[in-house]
Amino acid sequence: MTGGRPHSERIGEARQDTGGRAALYRALRELSCSRCARAIREGELFTREEEPASGLPLVRLCRNCAPFDQAKGLLEALLAPRQDEEAQPPPSPNDAREKALSRLGPALASGRRKR
Ligand SMILES: [Zn+2]
Repeated sequence: MTGGRPHSERIGEARQDTGGRAALYRALRELSCSRCARAIREGELFTREEEPASGLPLVRLCRNCAPFDQAKGLLEALLAPRQDEEAQPPPSPNDAREKALSRLGPALASGRRKR
């Protein structure tokens, strides 16, 4: 490899349609798929496969060649609307009381410091 700039960064794991797991990468510059030569644009996600000869994960596979689902906890979690918000209980009277107390806290503390 030439140059110090990485071409891609590993951002997590993908669940492949074949049932296996594969490391998931994001392109940091335009790359091309090792199998179909389709462009993998900057920011696109792709997976890698081991090169049979070297055993190193040098074979880039675009999403067309190696369909995958992003494992949970990755971008899905960032992009999807939060679903657990509805499940949260409404604020209880205790919360309001605690907020009031925390507002009073500094005043009480400074009052104590003056003594
Ligand atoms: Zn491809």
